[in-house]
Amino acid sequence: MAIFLSENFLPVSLKIIMKRNFFIAFEGLDGSGKSTQVKLLAEKFKAKGIKIHTTSEPTNSRIGLIIKDIFKHKMEADHRTIAALYAADRLDHLTNKTDGILKKMEEGYHVITDRYYFSSYAYHGVHMDMDWVIQANSLSADLLRPDLNVYIDTSPEISMKRLNRGRNSIELYETIENLKHVREKYFEAFEMLREKERVFITDGNRSADEISSDIWQEVSRIVEFENTLQ
Ligand code: ADP
Repeated sequence: MAIFLSENFLPVSLKIIMKRNFFIAFEGLDGSGKSTQVKLLAEKFKAKGIKIHTTSEPTNSRIGLIIKDIFKHKMEADHRTIAALYAADRLDHLTNKTDGILKKMEEGYHVITDRYYFSSYAYHGVHMDMDWVIQANSLSADLLRPDLNVYIDTSPEISMKRLNRGRNSIELYETIENLKHVREKYFEAFEMLREKERVFITDGNRSADEISSDIWQEVSRIVEFENTLQ
């Protein structure tokens, strides 16, 4: 089952004729299946001969590695500091000259990212004023707004079950209570930004193949593939 937000944001024809390369951001709780779905979507594009670059946040830049160290409890930081680090990592993710998203798009790649600014709104919005987080990320939003944000909606219980199966350690943010709050904050952010952002919410409590078909249907609905073939 799929829920569509920002329906009035879509053009009358319902399809975007892509004048530039597209940018899709995957969102969801840890363990919702984002990286699985990024991979499946990228395979579908590649099968059509479309050049795809997949990426994720936090990145492996120096800033991203600081964030990862905080998750692994190798260093401590206040939530406000973490939120600011994410905003900086995201700007570097967009602008760095080696493999930044904007550079990749200039090189003719379409880009799919596992997490973008909605992750910050939701995860940091639990601990601090969401408006501040949105403001702190406004430079990224001005540089590149996703053509589509895909939210894989899983219950915290299912996310936790998947995480426990797939990983050895539970990271800082991954407790059921926290995930419940994060999910609420995601929906609060979608509502707050419904005029600006295109968000597709898909029921993530299903098999990976079912979710993937649902996402593919939505992406096909809004992207004119003929114009994106390289
Ligand atoms: P995320 O990137 O959102 O943290 P992953 O894609 O890494 O999530 O998935 C977490 C775990 O759940 C992995 O072991 C993955 O194989 C498994 N998984 C992913 N999608 C599904 C699904 N729809 N049903 C069951 N297990 C899944």
